[in-house]
Amino acid sequence: MTDETPLLEIRNLRKYFEESSNVLDLLLRREPDQIQAVDDVSLTLNENESIAVIGESGCGKTTLLLTLIGLHDITDGEIIYKGTPVSEFDKADWKDYRSNVQVIFQDPFNALDPKMTIRESLEEPLKIHGIDDRDRRVRDVLEHVELSPPEKYLGRKPVNLSGGEKQRVAIARALIVEPDIILADEPVSMLDASTQAAVLKMMKELIEDFGVSMIYISHDLSTVSYISEHVNVMYLGRIVETAPTGQILADPKHPYTDALVSAVPIPDPGHDRDRTRMSGAPRDPIGLGDGCRFRDRCPAVIPPDHLEIDQEAFREVMEFRELLDRDEIAFDRVVETIDDPDPDDRTMARALKQEYFRHELSGENEATLTESLIALANEKPDVAARRLKQRFESVCETTPAYVEAETGWNVACHHYEESTNETQSTPAKQH
Ligand code: SF4
Repeated sequence: MTDETPLLEIRNLRKYFEESSNVLDLLLRREPDQIQAVDDVSLTLNENESIAVIGESGCGKTTLLLTLIGLHDITDGEIIYKGTPVSEFDKADWKDYRSNVQVIFQDPFNALDPKMTIRESLEEPLKIHGIDDRDRRVRDVLEHVELSPPEKYLGRKPVNLSGGEKQRVAIARALIVEPDIILADEPVSMLDASTQAAVLKMMKELIEDFGVSMIYISHDLSTVSYISEHVNVMYLGRIVETAPTGQILADPKHPYTDALVSAVPIPDPGHDRDRTRMSGAPRDPIGLGDGCRFRDRCPAVIPPDHLEIDQEAFREVMEFRELLDRDEIAFDRVVETIDDPDPDDRTMARALKQEYFRHELSGENEATLTESLIALANEKPDVAARRLKQRFESVCETTPAYVEAETGWNVACHHYEESTNETQSTPAKQH
């Protein structure tokens, strides 16, 4: 390992799970769908660095963590520790890696064995890794996590500690073997706000004191600036933006990051900030294709060049097409809005339009939509979907984007291709 060798490199990592097969799959001998929990993720962690992975629940960040510690097999890609791929590890290498890569889990209430005293909990990892001088180490680490004097805590059991104290013991357990890397999975999300700030401040100091590196995993962007210099924003298994923390908070580029930053509460109630909002919830990470995974929620999705259409009207067509693809058009609800017990196709098409579209289209856009809704009313969803796709398909659906918007600032969004080929415009923030 040279001075420039990263401590940990994750290269194009994929972790897919197979969805369990149903009876029809078995009868038809269909391959089960793949759940793309982590898809083509690359990260670098250097010595004495703290980076963050941020994203909503279900974005794949915990799967990433469990893959990093060897609890999930790698589907594809590589994890490289101090220059050696883990795929080349022998038993001794794995033991060394497991000692040097420690995890702090989200739930301090379940992180500790309720039957063990704090002393026993802290001595356990030392015994596992064959480390002596246990009493001194236990007392030292308790002082470091500000559980002082140690005598006050050594004989207690977790039930006698507050949530914040439990998480401090969990942090002490991770630090006591003097690891190179801490993987912290939402370490403060179950603590109250005042305890969160104190624990984060302490973690920041510990990273510096122990010279340890950290991957901080959270859904909460507001905590990141305390602890990490660099942020990776994850959405449905992929990193969609990566940049220094201060820059990403001040000027988020990816529309998803922009929405996350908009959601961070501002302490000053007098400060009036418009918010970027996302529609809906993330879909299941199954059969996602090549395009941008945020397209079904993106407030800045890009219409085809030939189309004259405003953003909200286009967004509405996109959402309708997604529902159609997922076979989720609520025909029963639409039928209830029609007085006629036996409506013709045009009446049904009008009712569908009323139910799903608030924005007026015009010209060819309107003609295509009407034609498609009539096909749908005529029980030809494939024709309707095809016709809509021909006219309204977006580059966001068909082509992945990963652009270096500025040096060290990567964004998975076609809007930033202008920085390299000047084809698209920067999204107007929905502020
Ligand atoms: S690529 Fe398209 S859908 Fe994805 S974030 Fe950019 S504009 Fe939105």
